[in-house]
Amino acid sequence: MKKTKIAVLISLISILLLLFCATTGPGGKKSLILVSTDQEVSIGQEFSAQIDTTNPISQDTIVQNYVNDVGQKIARISDRADLDYHFSVIDTPIVNAFACPGGFIYIYTGLLEIMDNEAQLAGVLAHEISHVVARHGVKRLQKALGLQVLLSIALGESSEITQNAVTLGAVVLLQAHSRENEFEADEFGTYYMTNAGYNPEGMVQLQQKFLELSQGGQPGFFEKIMATHPPSAERVKRIENQIAGYDPEIKNRSFKAEEYQKIKSRLKKD
Ligand SMILES: [Zn+2]
Repeated sequence: MKKTKIAVLISLISILLLLFCATTGPGGKKSLILVSTDQEVSIGQEFSAQIDTTNPISQDTIVQNYVNDVGQKIARISDRADLDYHFSVIDTPIVNAFACPGGFIYIYTGLLEIMDNEAQLAGVLAHEISHVVARHGVKRLQKALGLQVLLSIALGESSEITQNAVTLGAVVLLQAHSRENEFEADEFGTYYMTNAGYNPEGMVQLQQKFLELSQGGQPGFFEKIMATHPPSAERVKRIENQIAGYDPEIKNRSFKAEEYQKIKSRLKKD
């Protein structure tokens, strides 16, 4: 590589570093993010378009609107309220939920069916919103894709390399989150759902439920379940510790079981 070329590349990288350094999370933690919010949203749109065409998206607008309303309530008070969040229900008996970069969040009817109340649903959605707020997906993409691809994405180059990045990215996003990312998403999620007016005990109930299911040993059934968000006793304990000091009034809030059961009864029709 010629000297001038290297110099250009170095200054380009410096500019990108200055432009795309981002602050994440309630703790104001600084992270090096090379993908701008606009680029992140474009990547998310690509992923979500693929997901929408390859999965049975629920056609029940009452269920879709209900999940969306709960999600928007939490997203609005999150640390990335500027994003345009989308919440979709996939009509498949998988017990999971996931988030694409840019605020595209999906939940399977299999997960909706095992929950008991709106506070638990708020816990799931708040956890996924927190993955978006903390840019966990983007960080994993950055790590997997490397600098050349990121430069091409950041410069808006529509090329084969960008397309490859999107394909690779879909694989990366389906892998399990690290323990640290899970703890972080639980912590932010518990904080956000509480600020949105929900009873944070819903998050504890949810994690306990996952843990029990994972220990239940129903062969074949639990293999894929929550594979991207592995349950653990430590997650339950951490959330319990986090909310231990919360005002008793907050922990006496309604779990909104009746509202939830009405929606749940719509899922089991053939
Ligand atoms: Zn997670």
